[in-house]
Amino acid sequence: MTHDLVIRDAWLADGTGAPARAGDVGVDGKVITAVEPAGTLGPGRRSVDAAGRLLTPGFVDIHTHYDAQATWDPYLTPSGWHGVTTVIMGNCGVGFAPAAPDRHDWLIQLMEGVEDIPGSALSEGITWAWESFPEYLDALEAMPRALDAGVLVGHGPVRAYVMGERGAANEAATGDDIVAMADVVGTALRAGAFGFSTSRTPLHRARDGELVPGTDAGASELLGIAAAIRRAGHGVFQFAPDHARVPLDEWPWMRQVAELTGQPVSVNVNQPDSAPEVWREVLTLLDHAHADGLSIVAQVAGRTIGILYCLQGSVHPLMFHPAYQEVAALPLADRLQALADPERRRRTIHELPDDGGFFERVVVRGSEKMWLTTDGAIDYEPPPGSSIAALARARGVPPTELILDQLCAHDGDGMIYAPFFNYAYGDLSFSHEANQHAHTRLGLSDAGAHCGAICDGGVPTFMLTHWARDRTRGPKLPLEHIVHRQTAQTAGLYGLTDRGVVAPGWRADLNLIDFDALTFGPARMAYDLPAGGRRLVQRASGYAATWVAGVQTVADDEFTGELPGRLLRARR
Ligand SMILES: [Zn+2]
Repeated sequence: MTHDLVIRDAWLADGTGAPARAGDVGVDGKVITAVEPAGTLGPGRRSVDAAGRLLTPGFVDIHTHYDAQATWDPYLTPSGWHGVTTVIMGNCGVGFAPAAPDRHDWLIQLMEGVEDIPGSALSEGITWAWESFPEYLDALEAMPRALDAGVLVGHGPVRAYVMGERGAANEAATGDDIVAMADVVGTALRAGAFGFSTSRTPLHRARDGELVPGTDAGASELLGIAAAIRRAGHGVFQFAPDHARVPLDEWPWMRQVAELTGQPVSVNVNQPDSAPEVWREVLTLLDHAHADGLSIVAQVAGRTIGILYCLQGSVHPLMFHPAYQEVAALPLADRLQALADPERRRRTIHELPDDGGFFERVVVRGSEKMWLTTDGAIDYEPPPGSSIAALARARGVPPTELILDQLCAHDGDGMIYAPFFNYAYGDLSFSHEANQHAHTRLGLSDAGAHCGAICDGGVPTFMLTHWARDRTRGPKLPLEHIVHRQTAQTAGLYGLTDRGVVAPGWRADLNLIDFDALTFGPARMAYDLPAGGRRLVQRASGYAATWVAGVQTVADDEFTGELPGRLLRARR
């Protein structure tokens, strides 16, 4: 038979984790219809010579925050640049539905505060063609897109919708409130939400300083909502915890939720410097839970969660220094000029602010965990010996001098990389171990979020380049395992059993990759969100082709303009 598309002589990592092999793949319509040894399939209506290239399933990124962007951007960049063909959004308790008409600005400042997405971009970009969660899904479904997207319903919007100001202000929920919230969550799940998300970390705050609604919710509220998951018969319960508190405070109710629902509970697990060994307890608890038949997984990142400090970003080391603050409001060019003034330079470099030791601790000593980037190229596993503190010692200058010069370099484009989670050991050995555990799942790219400080949407590319190819500071991970981690395994967590494997009958979501040449472009600040809003972006090069449902969406790292993606509805 003549296939619509034949990809010939590819090096195939099929998503299952099985050894990579040379193969031909045939596609008809949206589906893979043949996978045969290399050289055995005849020509298709369209044939692609894949010799020397890696073929994988499209990547499934389960931790994104495109809840607003998905209403205006069909390409969902940066994910669309990095081989991602399916995203799950609505993580960590925030989102934009349900949305009472008088809550729009409040929802925007919640997302702006928690996920650092410019509020002006959200105000300009969101059309608010919905109030209920099902109406939000309908609005997403009406829009063509290059890749598929599924949505979780967030505790923050649900609580504020049901409880109004009391919910927004984190007052305790009454029995009636809990019944009403469960009702809204149940409706969302039946309409196609892939689960429910909440935040329990003091790090996640709205712009007004209030914690994400539901952060302090008691077990009765969480279990009341879990009952809605049980009744709906599907839905992942995802949350962002205060990492140190997971084993003692969170685990008991997590087990109850998993028991009650029979569905997966997914907890973000990072390694904070303040509690660097808690993750080991969590992995042991995961083993116990699975021995008891409970589906609890830890969602882990592929590397550090690191901040990119720059003058155009949300945060940088000098932002609280008085010598900087005096000129902070100036346009960038004027600010650079003011910072170059010899007297201001001297004060910035040599004067310690009178702030109770904050600057000394966070910036001067903190520079042990800051690294210069060169032209936007970032070493994601930088050795302690090249930190800003170490360089400053070697040159006999204060670290503030290197920091100031770097931030002002390249006309104010200079960047500093500062890992804040998952780098307590000074290398990526935590990530190496966590990404091999049977009950962890790869996630936490936060793609679409933290626009002014974090640029991790390209993690799917990094997994291939760093772990399977380039790592020098410790052992690598097998390519097949890395591909499995971000295809069949992540798809499986959300019940997406039609994708993530290259085999007959599976969806033709595919990446053809120049694996040897695969690399990142520089991280840079773009001003391409609605209303000229800023975001850190980083492209990839090496994606020869991406197909979504058998349609080519990317050719040589550029979008083809085809929009075969759609909104995904769970269990439909
Ligand atoms: Zn998140």
